[in-house]
Amino acid sequence: MARKVILVTGGGRGIGAAVALLAARRGYDLMLSYRTERTRAEAVAAEAHAHGARVEIAAADVGRDGDVMRLYAVLDERFGRLDALVNNAGTVGRAGPLADAATDMIKDVVAINVTGAILCAREAVRRMASSRGGRGGAIVNVSSRAAEIGGAGEWVHYAATKGAIDSLTIGLAREAGGEGIRVNAVAPGVIETEIHAAAGMPDRPARLSAGIPLGRPGRAEEVAELVLWLLSDAASYVNGAIVPIGGGR
Ligand code: NAP
Repeated sequence: MARKVILVTGGGRGIGAAVALLAARRGYDLMLSYRTERTRAEAVAAEAHAHGARVEIAAADVGRDGDVMRLYAVLDERFGRLDALVNNAGTVGRAGPLADAATDMIKDVVAINVTGAILCAREAVRRMASSRGGRGGAIVNVSSRAAEIGGAGEWVHYAATKGAIDSLTIGLAREAGGEGIRVNAVAPGVIETEIHAAAGMPDRPARLSAGIPLGRPGRAEEVAELVLWLLSDAASYVNGAIVPIGGGR
């Protein structure tokens, strides 16, 4: 039987890399996208390859619609099928109160986290939908606990983009369920990746640990386990779910 093909956006580091490596171990072939960190995407690809996966990588800024279309063209050309999408690429921009946030930064975060994710989901559905000749599939959107908590004082603009991801998940799950496509989301809490330092708060995971019922930040590998479960047949009746993974926070 042909191996299933998964597309992981932002698969070169952080949560995306953990998802990519676990997917390889679970028998998927991989299409990985990155924005700037080619060397890191290559390192993930090499490790996934060692698990027996065929892996292709491509540069694509999901905040640019032309890049999204090119990414899917590469996928079509190299694999000719798509079984799963993990809409993971994302950014928080710069941390701080909304009153101090720069317009260009807000626009970037919305373009990457919302428009990019919607376009990637649209292209996936176009390929997976049974009425369009597809064989069905599964999508997992990477939301955030911020959608519910609100990101006050840190990143209200970012929280709002993840609220949009939750709506995308609910609506598309209902629209595409009859097409053989399940759509779910994971909503991570504080996970140890570089995203906090990139926003100017490298100590954030340590600082917030005391307020997390499990007493520590999560690991990208723990999020990956949930993502792969949602994609799997074990979750065959799970559709439109937004599953928190925040240690109780
Ligand atoms: P990360 O370590 O900073 O990695 C971000 C990833 O997204 C990288 O692979 C990066 O690619 C990619 N990316 C960023 N902007 C992109 C763009 N414009 N186009 C394409 N790719 C882009 O962050 P992470 O923590 O793994 O975050 C992954 C997802 O989890 C995001 O959607 C984030 O909002 C969500 N999340 C994270 C946490 C957390 O605490 N870590 C909590 C809740 C939700 P390059 O490597 O090429 O730059």
